[in-house]
Amino acid sequence: MARLIAVTCPKCGAEVDLDPGKELVKCTYCGTSSFVSKEERHDAEDLDAQDEAWEREQEARRAETERQERDRRAEAEREEQARLAVLRREDELRLRAAVQEEKAHERSRRILIFVLAALPIGAFLALYLTK
Ligand SMILES: [Zn+2]
Repeated sequence: MARLIAVTCPKCGAEVDLDPGKELVKCTYCGTSSFVSKEERHDAEDLDAQDEAWEREQEARRAETERQERDRRAEAEREEQARLAVLRREDELRLRAAVQEEKAHERSRRILIFVLAALPIGAFLALYLTK
């Protein structure tokens, strides 16, 4: 974007925007056209170049900030995934332990039922055979 610099109208003293591409500038207040020296136009062009450099620098800074923000989010996402993986692993281990415990209980119950069922049969046989 071409930058306009303000020059003073030689007739009415109003501030007039100077287009660096044009030799003549027209006062928006009194309508007087005046000649703009090459030096003044070059000054305006230098300011244009400075503006553009500044804008480029700002753009580069914005891009860098965005890149850092993306990196930070990706890092946070990785940490969250790692945390969830640990939680899943812990759940898995807990579940496995619970299943083992349940199997152990089931075995004890079966042994108890077998013993309880065998006792009267054994007692009956003992009584029958010792008669
Ligand atoms: Zn004027």
